[in-house]
Amino acid sequence: SAKKEGGNRVTVYYDKLNPSNIERPRLEAHLRNAIENETIEVCYQPKVNVELGTIFGAEALVRWTDEEFGVVTPEVFIPIAEDTGLIQQLWDLVMRRSCKQVSKWNTNLTQPLSISVNFSARQFQEPSTMLQRVKDILAESNLAPEHLEIEITESILLTNSSEIVHTLKSLQDLGVAVSIDDFGTGYSSLSYLKDLPINTLKIDQSFIQNIDQDFGNSQIPEAIINLARSLHLDVIAEGVEEEYQKEFLRSKNCVQMQGYLFSKPLSKDDFEQFLKNFH
Ligand code: C2E
Ligand code: MG
Ligand code: MG
Ligand code: MG
Repeated sequence: SAKKEGGNRVTVYYDKLNPSNIERPRLEAHLRNAIENETIEVCYQPKVNVELGTIFGAEALVRWTDEEFGVVTPEVFIPIAEDTGLIQQLWDLVMRRSCKQVSKWNTNLTQPLSISVNFSARQFQEPSTMLQRVKDILAESNLAPEHLEIEITESILLTNSSEIVHTLKSLQDLGVAVSIDDFGTGYSSLSYLKDLPINTLKIDQSFIQNIDQDFGNSQIPEAIINLARSLHLDVIAEGVEEEYQKEFLRSKNCVQMQGYLFSKPLSKDDFEQFLKNFH
């Protein structure tokens, strides 16, 4: 249930693990409205190359503040959107808005940004429809396919793999890049990985946050960096919060990073300000 905490602040006490939660149908109805009225926001988290000192891209992350439920996190509403099929409309909205936005930014930038969009399993259920939609949105936004990256989790690769592989290959043929999000948490078979049409491994933030001051607990990120290198894939670390985590990654030649150390996900206006101030 939602509880008022003085003023207009509303905190959500919503048990996402309890499907019989009495609030869920109402939350779902509110989500449907927010998606239909496009009152859902898209934030942008910078992706940094610490060697070149550049911002080379941004990840689009959805934000939803409901009048009654308050801030509802993606961890709560993305699974609802996935269960109900609303994720299709949400995906379309995020794609349209973020591709258009990055295309606009790129007209004023000497080094164009690339936009990363999170794709759910549902996006792969009708591959030809999805591919056509990607082409149309890129054309409408005047964004080169090379400036779009999709992020998928390992779990997507485990479902109906041959069709997924074919779809990813079609995206790559267009020029779109494919990144494996939360890498290391999903039990990918390593032998299989080498034949997949993917460009980047994105090391899961839990591994990065475990790295301590003395570079302890760094075996897994190091192994993933080496794996990426031997498979000729790009590698990026997410959830970099501390200077020493950055230094560790850099010492292992993983120079692409994302995390609160650089910036939280930002509104469009704040992202523009961040670009101006960054050096
Ligand atoms: P993700 O794609 O792995 O995104 C990374 C999450 O980590 C984001 O949470 C981001 O805000 C957070 N994060 C970034 N840097 C740091 C850091 O340094 N420390 C910590 N503690 N966290 C950091 P967010 O925005 O709450 O999103 C959570 C998940 O929801 C995403 O994980 C993604 O799986 C999903 N999601 C978000 N937007 C979309 C979307 O448009 N479509 C789909 N299908 N899923 C989305
Ligand atoms: Mg992601
Ligand atoms: Mg992730
Ligand atoms: Mg995640």
